[in-house]
Amino acid sequence: MSYRRILPAAVLAAVCLTGCAKSEPQEYSTDLFAMDTYMQLKVWNTDDGASLDAAAARIAALENTFSVTIDGSDIARVNHAAGAPTQVSEDTALLIRKAQEIGDASGGALDISLYPVLCAWGFTTGEMHVPERSTLDALLGQVDYTKIGLDGNTVTLPADMEIDLGALAKGYTSDEVIRIFRESGAESAIVSLGGNVQALGSKPDGSKWKVGIVDPFSPSENMGVVEIENQAVITSGNYERYFEENGQKYWHILDKADGEPADNGLVSVTIIGDSGLQCDALSTALFVEGTQDAVAHWQRDGGFEMLLVTEDGRLLVTEGIADAFTNRSAMPMEVISHE
Ligand code: ADP
Ligand code: MG
Repeated sequence: MSYRRILPAAVLAAVCLTGCAKSEPQEYSTDLFAMDTYMQLKVWNTDDGASLDAAAARIAALENTFSVTIDGSDIARVNHAAGAPTQVSEDTALLIRKAQEIGDASGGALDISLYPVLCAWGFTTGEMHVPERSTLDALLGQVDYTKIGLDGNTVTLPADMEIDLGALAKGYTSDEVIRIFRESGAESAIVSLGGNVQALGSKPDGSKWKVGIVDPFSPSENMGVVEIENQAVITSGNYERYFEENGQKYWHILDKADGEPADNGLVSVTIIGDSGLQCDALSTALFVEGTQDAVAHWQRDGGFEMLLVTEDGRLLVTEGIADAFTNRSAMPMEVISHE
């Protein structure tokens, strides 16, 4: 009786003496370029880097699924279906559903059917220019995400509508990378997809991750640092993809009210929360909503924290993240609370 009980423990001890020393997690990291974005992945694992390879493969697969420009992607097929129903992957259906949900929650500020308007500005080709007012007006007539049909994994667009998931695809991608790392047994990982950061657990030494938040008025510098674990930190700003014409600055986040770059008082919106997908969708939505509506949105729905920077240099931070944020800017921090 006692022999049978002791044996497994002894075997386990022997395995541990040889195996446990070898299985100290090692740091594996890679840089890659996908989704038009520079990405950095870092994971501490005991798997010879297998989870890192799996994550890179997943990113490539998601790019081939979501890209508007890659022939045969789900989105290219949906956009070219001329009104016919199109079968898409679970991933695409999930993102469209989330875009509808956050579209509704933001009063239509997030509208993935703005894509033809984005094209008119040249943001999709890199040949950026200010389009004619009449061009914008004509294209805006086709913008209305509420007309997107989604039944299970079948998507049906009006014949003249095109969509793009640029506002939320990277957030979902970082969710997926973190999921792959977690399921592989890792307890610590950090990814940055073009400055959008998501963490698994805490740093290997147990301390929190320190994530720099870009100063929208001086994008080569940080305005502060936020300490997080197991969270995503996702920013939409007017300083990222933009061009200048006649002394005016034009950026890639559009307002369907007029088809112009969203200019509702905010220069950057950082969302902090558990889901990269949710944070990414919200970062774009709240940027378009503007200062007052973004604050009202948070007070109404909650479930996330945020840092807003206004064009007149105010820094608004929600109460749930204020203690974790170290402000290194000259802007005084104003804490927003639930009224
Ligand atoms: P980034 O791509 O820099 O992380 P965002 O997450 O804010 O920034 O996404 C911006 C992208 O979302 C644009 O490049 C475009 O593809 C798309 N987009 C722009 N305006 C809107 C909008 N009002 N609603 C939905 N998608 C938008
Ligand atoms: Mg976004």
